[in-house]
Order: sequence, then structure tokens, then C-alpha cells
Amino acid sequence: MHCPFCNMQDTKVIDSRLVGEGYQVRRRRQCLGCLERFTTFETAELVIPHVIKRDSRRVPFDEDKLRRSFLKALEKRPVSADDIEIEISKILSFLRATGEREISSELIGSHVMAALKRLDKVAYIRFASVYLSFASIEEFSEEIEKLKH
Ligand SMILES: [Zn+2]
Repeated sequence: MHCPFCNMQDTKVIDSRLVGEGYQVRRRRQCLGCLERFTTFETAELVIPHVIKRDSRRVPFDEDKLRRSFLKALEKRPVSADDIEIEISKILSFLRATGEREISSELIGSHVMAALKRLDKVAYIRFASVYLSFASIEEFSEEIEKLKH
């Protein structure tokens, strides 16, 4: 980056350390032109993309809604709240890591299905039967057959 004092492009890092519990890097730099020193902070851009719905509407990502989907599918199932939160945070990390501005609701749905499959097969079938809106009892039993293998 340019030196804030003389605008020269060549700067060197003279010190670099993690701050903010490791989520931020603080760099001490020196300009090779005017020799002034300055500090920069680098953080990951933690932006969750907007969601593109099936009807092409764009809506802000709703973490509560995601959690409700999990809880609804897992109602009265033997799965701990901690395990659910771990799967939710995995999905949030994935969304942040994409670096995309918008992401399709189908892609999020497929991650929810994969997570439910890991947590509880019954919950997975509950969610999938609504989400995939099986057109027939055959499709439904095919999905159950797949789970048995
Ligand atoms: Zn300078």
C-alpha cells in the first residue's frame, strides 16, 4: 500500500503480530522513501452473502431462520444443542468463506441437508420431504433407500 506521508508505493513490514484474539494482524511498516513508520491492521472480511430465493428475490441472510429449520427438523430427536450449534457455525463459516455477495438458497439448503444427514437420519428425512418436496411416494422411498446404504 502507499505510504500515507509521501504516497510512495514501496514500504516494508518491520513487525507483524496477531491481535484481537488472532482474528487480526497488526503490521508495522516503514516507507522506503521517507522512512516514516505507520501501522496497518488486516482482518478477514466477515460478510455473509445475501440469499437468492427460488423466485430470484434477494433477501438478507437470516441466521435465526436457519436455526429454526434445524430445530424444527430435529424436534424431539436425540441430538444435543451443542451439536446443532456446531453444524450451524460450520454453515456460517462456509458462507463467509465463499466471499460471494449473493448465494442461492438451494446451495444453503444442500448444506443444511448434509448437516442433518450427519446429525440424525429422521431429521434429515423430515427436512428433505419438505425441502425437496417429493412429488411421489416413490421418490420418498428412494431417498430412504439411499439412506440405508
Ligand atoms: Zn513515505
